[in-house]
Amino acid sequence: MRKSKDHYTCFQCKNPVLKIESKKDSIINKDGKIINKYFHDDCYNEFLNNRKEKEELDRICQYVKEEILQYKSNQRVPTHLVRRIQALKSGQEYGVSRNSKVYGNESGYSYEIILKTFKAKKFDIIRGIKDKSKFKNDTHKIDYIMVVIINNINDILERIEAKKSSDKRLNEINLDFSDEKNYKRNKINDNKVANKLRDIW
Ligand SMILES: [Zn+2]
Repeated sequence: MRKSKDHYTCFQCKNPVLKIESKKDSIINKDGKIINKYFHDDCYNEFLNNRKEKEELDRICQYVKEEILQYKSNQRVPTHLVRRIQALKSGQEYGVSRNSKVYGNESGYSYEIILKTFKAKKFDIIRGIKDKSKFKNDTHKIDYIMVVIINNINDILERIEAKKSSDKRLNEINLDFSDEKNYKRNKINDNKVANKLRDIW
């Protein structure tokens, strides 16, 4: 692309962006150097979103590697695990033998829900994979882990949504009873909701 005095090259779409309209951000390159990058407005949002998703995916993969597979730090995250988690997020079916159709879901699940499901089922999964002789290889073991996740993710999703709506109701109650003379009623209601919340999560 021809260099221009008034333009940068957008880091995201690689098209020219007017300097005065560009968004600037800095990234750290492979050698640890800080480099300025420029973007169109929309491209910058896309860039931030992709970066956030990558961080969330990394967090899940690290969690599974360390807490569930209990790999050492010099063992890498199996590619098969990364692909299966990405498939669960996107709702697309990833071509894995017989269970590829099990989780076909148009919109997929958020990384937040996926990570919470791994955390909730951690000990069940660890018990399930303890006997190494049950698995032909790592891929087989990961497929087993993903079956546990897929079988439980809807339940976790429902519990999280129930908690969110309880939190919302709690806020509404606080607004309703915010004036001084209803202070006592407010206390009683708070306690009722708090007790309910304890049961849910
Ligand atoms: Zn752009």
